Amino acid sequence: MIKLSRDQFDTIVAHARSGFPNEICGILAGRDGQVEIVHQARNVARTPRTRFSMDPQDILGITDAIDEAGMDLLGFYHSHTHTQAYPSPTDVSDWPAHWYPDALCLICSLMEEDRPQLRAFHIDAAGEIEEADVEIA
Ligand SMILES: [Zn+2]
Repeated sequence: MIKLSRDQFDTIVAHARSGFPNEICGILAGRDGQVEIVHQARNVARTPRTRFSMDPQDILGITDAIDEAGMDLLGFYHSHTHTQAYPSPTDVSDWPAHWYPDALCLICSLMEEDRPQLRAFHIDAAGEIEEADVEIA
């Protein structure tokens, strides 16, 4: 389970819309499953319309900031501009389960323009996908 405020949800959706038709990405930090900071990162994939690859420098800077703040890295988010909010085969194969075994994979789908969706998944090292609850309060 991961908990976000309505503002944080809106921030992620606005980020996703601002990058359209490219995918965007970022990192959620907080404590006890409650998001406190939405960190935006750059998508440096060669084909950003269908893939995301988080800028390694951004990952370093953001994870340092999370450590310094004494927070946990709760999840990585990215957008799907034309598909549902479910991990693609590439999302699963690229997922850093070994490095971040507790982090959730959050996907914001813009497939339905007026009804953006945010879903969260736990992906283990074997590629098993399990959906986690997203609570927006
Ligand atoms: Zn994806």
